[in-house]
Amino acid sequence: AKGLGKNQYCVYTDEMGVQEVRKMELEKDLQRALEHNEFYMEYQPKWNVKTNQLYGFEALIRWHHPRLGIVPPGEFIPIAEETGLIIPITRWTLEQACRECKAWQDRGMAQPVSVNLSVRMFQTDTLVEYLTSVLKKTELGPQYLELEITESMVIYDIQEIVRQLDIIRRMGVRVSMDDFGTGYSSIGLLDRIPIDALKLDRLFTHDLETPSKRAIVHAIVLMAENLKLDVIAEGVENQEHIAFLTELGCHVMQGYFYGRPMKDDKITEWLQGFAQ
Ligand code: C2E
Ligand code: CA
Ligand code: CA
Ligand code: CA
Repeated sequence: AKGLGKNQYCVYTDEMGVQEVRKMELEKDLQRALEHNEFYMEYQPKWNVKTNQLYGFEALIRWHHPRLGIVPPGEFIPIAEETGLIIPITRWTLEQACRECKAWQDRGMAQPVSVNLSVRMFQTDTLVEYLTSVLKKTELGPQYLELEITESMVIYDIQEIVRQLDIIRRMGVRVSMDDFGTGYSSIGLLDRIPIDALKLDRLFTHDLETPSKRAIVHAIVLMAENLKLDVIAEGVENQEHIAFLTELGCHVMQGYFYGRPMKDDKITEWLQGFAQ
């Protein structure tokens, strides 16, 4: 940039280089990560404060890279989207989440699981068949599966997405809109996209001291009630967040306060600790 000394300029380009190199390495290794079983799922609880009961779990992917350690999904999912690898990766997450959810039931914990669905899955033409086959193979009831989609899909063929979502919901699978309120046309989408729930982005939860933000959240909750949609608040980290959200009529919460994303084998332990 203008005005920077020569040395600073060099540091800047070096930094870019490091990032570029890392991205290239991740892109290359992502190809093999699936075959080498480097992915695993973690599950984060959603809690209904009104009924004082679990509402379900969100499945979140993790990549344990052999050399780099844990690579966050925020870093590799965009690369997977670019390269098209998001399709086999999403299939893997769906299958893994359904299988683990079925195993919870067999251990006496009947809780639904939600899976993040890339919009690219709607462009495969095989999403409906794939979901049908996974539910059949894992013997999971469709009412235990929820798909989280994002507003970003507004840039794709909405009619085609709606057509597929209608079939998916008729199968009994639930659909929620993730990160609600961060996109540019959230509200306009609501009467076009068939969904069951809204996930209020954590930016709202973290900004509720601001009266205008509270007014917006309140309006979203009222609108969701009228549309018969559940509202799930994300990023709930403390009692203050819970107090604000409850006052605004939001009763389902997800965040570090209730539980961090955890491996499947930690869930029973968490549940016992939490019920105390
Ligand atoms: P998301 O779907 O909005 O997921 C919620 C993210 O917020 C998760 O980060 C979760 O760990 C984090 N989080 C949960 N509670 C709190 C809290 O109280 N405070 C704060 N500050 N953060 C909290 P994570 O697991 O790193 O995932 C980041 C994003 O990566 C996800 O955002 C989602 O867009 C994407 N992602 C994660 N797993 C998958 C997956 O299996 N498939 C696809 N397509 N995308 C995924
Ligand atoms: Ca999500
Ligand atoms: Ca979200
Ligand atoms: Ca997000």
